[in-house]
Parts: sequence; structure tokens; C-alpha cells
Amino acid sequence: MHIDIITCLPRLIESPFSDSILKRAQAKGLVTVNIIDLRQYATSKHKSTDDYAFGGGAGMVMMIEPIDNCITDLKNQRTYDDIIYMSPDGERLNQSLANQLSLKNNLIMLCGHYKGVDERVREHLITREISIGDYVLSGGELAAAVVADAVVRLIPGVLSDETSALSDSFQDDLIAPPVYTRPAEYKGWKVPDVLLSGHQANIEKWRMDESIARTKARRPELLD
Ligand code: SAH
Repeated sequence: MHIDIITCLPRLIESPFSDSILKRAQAKGLVTVNIIDLRQYATSKHKSTDDYAFGGGAGMVMMIEPIDNCITDLKNQRTYDDIIYMSPDGERLNQSLANQLSLKNNLIMLCGHYKGVDERVREHLITREISIGDYVLSGGELAAAVVADAVVRLIPGVLSDETSALSDSFQDDLIAPPVYTRPAEYKGWKVPDVLLSGHQANIEKWRMDESIARTKARRPELLD
């Protein structure tokens, strides 16, 4: 998979890709993440990528020209499955959308800032809009990092134990069961006996029962 992330503040998004699982995925060659500074595509003397809103009002608007130049340049290099704009009014990210995106080869994620992008970008240059929830962030960088993390960990080979992503919450409309590690007893607080029994069938049954009980208690609508 190849992901291009377009931003006017590249430093805001570099660190999530420089550590842990996302870093290893790149080192293994399973994904390439390219962070692009939109300023490179600015045409004005001061390299600005935003301007005042027509009609007045507070907040700057990201201009169409640098974004168009950037996307055109990228599209000359490869064919994209989706050109995504991160937006609070977009399609809401969930596990099923992450699963879908993990099957794509080439993605662009455009991060907005300030008041967002000139509407003509959304009308003519973007193929999909994704929100990470009903709240407003100051920029799309953290949202793009959330989407990229949720998607990249699903690519086969990224997690060391391939079945691990499948046993996480939401994959089968269930919440994951509780997990424990050593010591088996801490301050008198014990790990459930069944997990120490070595009886795999009983352990699997216990995990499934816990998953269902937890889903009923915390997210009953998933069972509908
Ligand atoms: N004026 C816009 C919000 C702009 S916030 C509105 O009211 O809808 C600035 C940028 O942050 C947006 O362009 C978008 O790229 C990003 N952003 C903010 N909240 C987000 C969310 N919940 N999901 C995804 N991106 C978000």
C-alpha cells in the first residue's frame, strides 16, 4: 500500500509514522507513507496556501490551486483508488471502513486546516470524505494518522501475529475479552483460573462468553 498525506503542517503528522507498528510496517516494505508539504506547490510569492473567505467572516480557507497542483503531480505518478479529504462531516470511520480501505493500493489523504478547504476541492478533486467522529479538530493531520493507523495494522504481515487484528474489538461485532499477564496474583487480585488451566477449549469458551457479556453491557447495539 502507498499512502500520500498532503498537509500544510508536515511536522504535525510525522511522529505517528516514526514509531512502533507503523514504523515497522514501512521498514518491512508493506506500506510506504509519503508526507507532502503543500507549501511546495504554492504559487504565490509568500508560498501561502490559504486566503480570506469570500463573503467575509472569521477563519482562513485553504486555496484550491496548490491542492490541485499537488494532486495533479501525484496522479501523474500513480493511479489512486481514493483521494480522501479528512472532514468532520464526512463518512464516519469505523472498523468496516478501515477493513475496506486496507484492501486498497494507493491512497491520498488531504488534511484541512483553519476553516477547511475551498469547496471546489471537495466538488472536483476528492473522491471520498472521512470523519473520525462528531467533534472538530484544528487540522486533519491527527485524523489522517488515526485512519492510517487503523488501516495499516490490518495489512497482512504488519502485526507479528496475523490473527491478532481479527480478535480485536469490532471485527466480529463483539468487544474483545479482557486480557491478563504475569503475575497471576497481584495484591490479592487474581487472574481467572481458566486462563491458567492450559485447557485451550475452555479458554476459548471463556473468552467468547466474556466477549458477549461485555458487548451486551457496553455496546448492546452491536448485537442487533
Ligand atoms: N469549518 C469546518 C471545520 C474545519 S476544522 C466545519 O465546521 O466543518 C479544520 C480541518 O480539520 C478540517 O478541514 C478537517 O480536515 C480537519 N478535521 C476537523 N475535525 C475532523 C474530524 N472530526 N474528522 C476528520 N477531520 C477533521
